[in-house]
Amino acid sequence: MTPLRLALPNKGRLAEPAVELLRAAGLDFELSERRLTAAVSNADLELLFVRTEDIGEYVADGLVELGISGADLVAEHGGDLHPVLPLGFGACSLVLAVPRDGAIGSVADLAGCRVATSFPRVTNAFLDGAGVSAQVVEVRGAVEVTPQLGVADAVVDLVATGSTLRMNGLRSIATLLASEAVLVGRNGIVADDERVPPLVDMLRSVLDARGREYMMMNAPADALDRIRQIIPGLSGPTVMPLADPSQIAVHSVVERSQLWRIVPALKAAGARDILVVPIEKVMR
Ligand code: AMP
Repeated sequence: MTPLRLALPNKGRLAEPAVELLRAAGLDFELSERRLTAAVSNADLELLFVRTEDIGEYVADGLVELGISGADLVAEHGGDLHPVLPLGFGACSLVLAVPRDGAIGSVADLAGCRVATSFPRVTNAFLDGAGVSAQVVEVRGAVEVTPQLGVADAVVDLVATGSTLRMNGLRSIATLLASEAVLVGRNGIVADDERVPPLVDMLRSVLDARGREYMMMNAPADALDRIRQIIPGLSGPTVMPLADPSQIAVHSVVERSQLWRIVPALKAAGARDILVVPIEKVMR
């Protein structure tokens, strides 16, 4: 089989988490200092490292079958691209922001105004959808300073914490889209290319395991009903008999964030010898 080609960000916010995810999925590859390409030694996969904002174009042009990029960039590219799998990192929002103490208080107030953004396509679609006629000014970088420079009356920009907006005297009045890193391919790629589903499944198994732990405990057999109510598990807990017929072992997958709630309740129900171990992958 010819190797499947996957384009990855060569630098920036999404670069390291993308490489980490592939390694967690069990792919072996070496990164050279210049990070142009990398061959994966244990799978038919070739990695190409390109600028995050170019990844959509590589995929759309068929230079690669898949890429890892932001959902925001995929939406801005439009066309034939399809977000195949959300990847759980690089979370941010594309928001409409206006000067904190200015006259614009709602989307409707934008009529006749200038809106600066690096996302002209998404912004125009949003304005059209809101029935507002405003001038979209395309800028590359430093979008948030354009109102102070007198170049725009409002901005559409990416935010994660909102601190950059605040520092520039702006406040968000609408969210155009919530974004995170995604595996992206051309429409139909999952059905059309048999090399794609195994990679998607492997990545998904790592994502499904993140934030989850495997929990094991011993308990009195008559505590089972109470324990079941405390830990519903992925598909209910696994229950095993012990040498002592009055005792059972219970195993279950639990959300890490729920441990604080679950452990005291299990102890109160009679569970003991509770072990919590990490999960690497969840293969469904
Ligand atoms: P880069 O400019 O290469 O660091 O990556 C930009 C991409 O990272 C964006 O297109 C988003 O998908 C994502 N991202 C996550 N958080 C932020 C943020 N606070 N600001 C801008 N982009 C972000």
